[in-house]
Amino acid sequence: MSDVILSTHELHKRFTSSRGVLGAPSHIYAVNGVSLSIRRGETFAIVGESGCGKSTLARLLLRLLDPSEGQVIYEGQDLTALPAAEMRKLRAQMQFIFQDPFSSLNPRMTVESIVGEPLLVHGTLSRKERREKVADLLRKVGLRPDHADRFPHEFSGGQRQRICVARALASGPKLLIGDEPVSALDVSVQAQIVNLLEDLKEDFGLTLIIIAHDLSVIRHMADRVAVMYLGEVVELAATEALYTTPRHPYTRALLTAIPVPMPGARGQIAALGGDIPSPANPPAGCKFHTRCPYATEICKTTRPVLENAEAHQTACHHWRSLPPLGTDAAVTAPRSAATEARFALYRDAASKTAGHSK
Ligand code: SF4
Repeated sequence: MSDVILSTHELHKRFTSSRGVLGAPSHIYAVNGVSLSIRRGETFAIVGESGCGKSTLARLLLRLLDPSEGQVIYEGQDLTALPAAEMRKLRAQMQFIFQDPFSSLNPRMTVESIVGEPLLVHGTLSRKERREKVADLLRKVGLRPDHADRFPHEFSGGQRQRICVARALASGPKLLIGDEPVSALDVSVQAQIVNLLEDLKEDFGLTLIIIAHDLSVIRHMADRVAVMYLGEVVELAATEALYTTPRHPYTRALLTAIPVPMPGARGQIAALGGDIPSPANPPAGCKFHTRCPYATEICKTTRPVLENAEAHQTACHHWRSLPPLGTDAAVTAPRSAATEARFALYRDAASKTAGHSK
């Protein structure tokens, strides 16, 4: 059996927006040439600021979105070439946990119906067996069997996310992808869900892919981390190496970002300063060069590639000659209203396309 459960090869996703200059269609380059290999049984984290393409990448991995170019290989099968019916069968093995446990549960369905639905779709259990299986799953995620008869509105945010996890486990997946699975929860509940996912990973022999912007959450659960910027992976390393010896200026800046101490901020890191270029018109060369304090001429013209020969991969022309950690020049300029508007446009296009693809 291969060590690698899922891999991507030069994966690209472009969205087309009709809101370009003078109403002409424009392309938003959400994911650009991402090649990754996820090892069986690991927890792999994908981090970056809002709009970096990490959630789009997560949806491409399960083919909730179709890529514009490239391949997704799961257990030796090219998902991008699979007929829809075959893909539906495979989805039992690959489940998604959405960010918002409030909107991802049907308010009119009981917990038994919600958690038992994948058993109906993918299995052959009798009603009694299904009910027993649901009770068992609820116990495993820290809920009680009698919760099966209740509706989602009767639960707290953390309990709803537990219901989402139970539903994801119902079809017996090998791979779970969590898109910011704790960021909509209160800080006090986040650790409980993180611990739950870690325990379930061991119990069920899962591979976990976690999408996050909260680096503190990732540090405690991930084996490896990929950092994304404007649709590209700019650094990939074992978690400890990434946190103790980050190489890419963007990763270094992310790691110095300060948690937002505000009610409702829900553990978000402070956004990096400086304008992120428009994903509809990304800069040539290194995409970080418009914000990077170490950019030189070559950075403006030549795209750096990940050095694949090393376990710690970095896409930066100058990582070997950066000043010592902790002495980075600050990236402090505020984000403009235009940048925020571009992100709104990007999120809008991504959510519409995701809805059409399901
Ligand atoms: Fe900065 Fe140049 Fe490295 Fe890009 S390639 S991160 S612009 S130093």
